[in-house]
Amino acid sequence: MNSKQWIEKGDKYIIKTYGRYPLVPVRGEGCYLWDADGKRYLDFLAGVAVNNLGHCHPRVVAALQKQAGELIHCSNFYHIPQQIELAELLCSNSFADRAFFCNSGAEANEAAIKLARKYSREKFGPERFEIITAISSFHGRTMATVSATGQEKVQRFFDPLLHGFKHVPFNDAEALRAAVTPATCAIMLEPIQGEGGVVIPSAEYFREVRRICDENNLILIFDEVQTGIGRTGKLFAHEHFDIAPDIMTLAKALAGGAPIGTMLAREAIAESFGPGTHGSTFGGNPLVTAAALAAVRTILEEDILENTLKMGTYLCQRLTDLQGKFPFITDVRGIGLIIGAELAIPGAEIVRKALEKGLLINVAQDRVLRFVPPLTVGTQEIDAMLAILEEVLTELPAAP
Ligand SMILES: *Cc1c(COP(=O)(O)O)cnc(C)c1O
Repeated sequence: MNSKQWIEKGDKYIIKTYGRYPLVPVRGEGCYLWDADGKRYLDFLAGVAVNNLGHCHPRVVAALQKQAGELIHCSNFYHIPQQIELAELLCSNSFADRAFFCNSGAEANEAAIKLARKYSREKFGPERFEIITAISSFHGRTMATVSATGQEKVQRFFDPLLHGFKHVPFNDAEALRAAVTPATCAIMLEPIQGEGGVVIPSAEYFREVRRICDENNLILIFDEVQTGIGRTGKLFAHEHFDIAPDIMTLAKALAGGAPIGTMLAREAIAESFGPGTHGSTFGGNPLVTAAALAAVRTILEEDILENTLKMGTYLCQRLTDLQGKFPFITDVRGIGLIIGAELAIPGAEIVRKALEKGLLINVAQDRVLRFVPPLTVGTQEIDAMLAILEEVLTELPAAP
């Protein structure tokens, strides 16, 4: 079937929760995707920061193929070697002592919310359950994570939301401090707001956040679902800010495209989750954890982080050059390869035109073009991306 036929059939059978672009990718390699008609696309969205190693990285493919032939799934009633090895790898490369595995970012955040509540209840009593999060944050689409998310467009239609979340302005330590009450048990933040439009707070803010948590015995939860696994040029984004959380959630890029989520925690907090307190049928099964082991080892063993920093600097520089030509680009910001170009005009048309010309990018918060290419990207692909983008911008009615 060709793309048009797939789109018509999908239109008939799929529940319309997504405003999908008219693209049917059927094959991927590195920074490129091919659609059902054989047309090639340069992918600077990478499955929304999932394909950090590019599409079908040979080490991830090999791990999946090998594991699929040995054991795809077994219950968490039993011990899973790949899961244990992945937990060790993540803990030995972070602040954390233990890991819990699930299947998505929202589920990892659910686990963090449940653990924070249970720990605080046991340690400080049942009145302590409130979690403070940031305005414009994004933590997922389940009921608890929708309640945690600081965006009206994600929350509306689903009242009553889960009780016990409070939202404060991001990158504002005073507002955070003022929101802490005896009912507060945790603070949950993204180190960089991704869906919120690539918002990067100051290192000073995070030092102050850590101080507020320490002074009040609060758990600091970092949602690194989007920023983790090398996206910012460090394995975890919070390493840029010289502080560490008590709980961290990961998902998106962790298994090189296979569905996985994890919550990592310090020992004293992790102890609160005993047998029967939380679980997931598929969480950390042999197939996905084998893929994750391959993905994380590749990032640690090859020069991926170095490339991310180098290419991030290059892409930011080139976008800043474009800003000189197109004054409706009001800001260019990023760390590593999570980069936003803020516009004075809506970005949807730019994304649509770029797609027609074979380039995949995305827009967050209506006006921030978001670039999250594979971390394996090179200058050649960045130059090719910019050539298409410049063509699109030149053809805009708003162009100078
Ligand atoms: C994508 C994302 C989530 C949700 O992850 P899912 O796998 O879609 O549930 C949560 N937090 C952040 C910061 C994200 O970017």
